[in-house]
Amino acid sequence: MSVKREGPALKSFACRDAGVICNARVTGETEAEVLAKAVEHAREKHGVDLTQSSTLANYAKGLIHDDAEAAAS
Ligand SMILES: [Zn+2]
Repeated sequence: MSVKREGPALKSFACRDAGVICNARVTGETEAEVLAKAVEHAREKHGVDLTQSSTLANYAKGLIHDDAEAAAS
């Protein structure tokens, strides 16, 4: 079930949602963009390479959600 909206939907990923004590949050117009930023952040700041494990990558992907609050404010 997916809802189509007009204009680019803002997606976001928060490290905190992954159970990491980190206030970093990345946003992008597409899931792929957000995931790419999250992968980069995880590698630089946490020494974790999300691309090494499809399980981790899928987990991170599942944490990406529409950033309705940021879009509304
Ligand atoms: Zn982080």
